Amino acid sequence: IRMELVNAEKMSIVSELAASVAHEVRNPLTVVRGFIQLIGSTSDITITKKREYMDIVLNELDRAEAIISDYLGLASQQFFLKEKIDLYDILEEVTMLMTSYANFKTVSIQSHIDHHLFVIGDKAKLKQVFINIIKNAIEAVSNVDGNVIIKAFTSHEVVRIKVIDNGIGMSPEQITRLGEPYYTLKENGTGLGLTVTYTIIKNHGGSIRYKSEPNKGTVAIISLPIYKEEK
Ligand code: ADP
Ligand code: MG
Repeated sequence: IRMELVNAEKMSIVSELAASVAHEVRNPLTVVRGFIQLIGSTSDITITKKREYMDIVLNELDRAEAIISDYLGLASQQFFLKEKIDLYDILEEVTMLMTSYANFKTVSIQSHIDHHLFVIGDKAKLKQVFINIIKNAIEAVSNVDGNVIIKAFTSHEVVRIKVIDNGIGMSPEQITRLGEPYYTLKENGTGLGLTVTYTIIKNHGGSIRYKSEPNKGTVAIISLPIYKEEK
């Protein structure tokens, strides 16, 4: 379990990056704040000093911007692969990875994943999508008698994936804010997980919606266009 945990963490590229983005952006902002205060509070500041402070401020702001655009660039998909994928394989793998994370938090995971769920897309990016959503589900139930259920099946022209939890749930207002960068209610959250997730799904021609009720639980429903052989 220890080994798997480490692997699960490694696979969780998005969450790791998200955490480091938040951390990296906070530092320059703190510096900027300090220097703006310094410029504002000292009246007998020389023009040379002022310029020096302004340069530092601009540099730090540039750095923060670079960190953010680098990170979001990951999700912007300029170079994303378009290969035929069986989501069964991805979901089985992600479920296995997340099971160790769930066990660690005494959450049980069940999955009902149909075979032959073919879509066109980028395996690594889709993996990130499911890791993010399942991780959120596990985190939502970790204080109660937690259950997470993953279902995947074809329905008409789409492959549909449902991630169901019996966790803290969300109000309608909270649901509308999902995917908004830096929107988080967690103490150590980044609010970037779903931002990246939404972008990846959109770039695969898919959609995601949430159904939820406070203190009852949440269902995340992802739909991706099914792959059809050319005739
Ligand atoms: P983070 O997990 O770092 O907070 P996310 O973008 O992944 O950022 O999620 C944003 C917010 O959406 C979370 O902080 C949480 O409040 C809410 N959320 C997402 N999924 C769920 C869920 N399954 N149950 C309850 N709240 C959720
Ligand atoms: Mg998250």
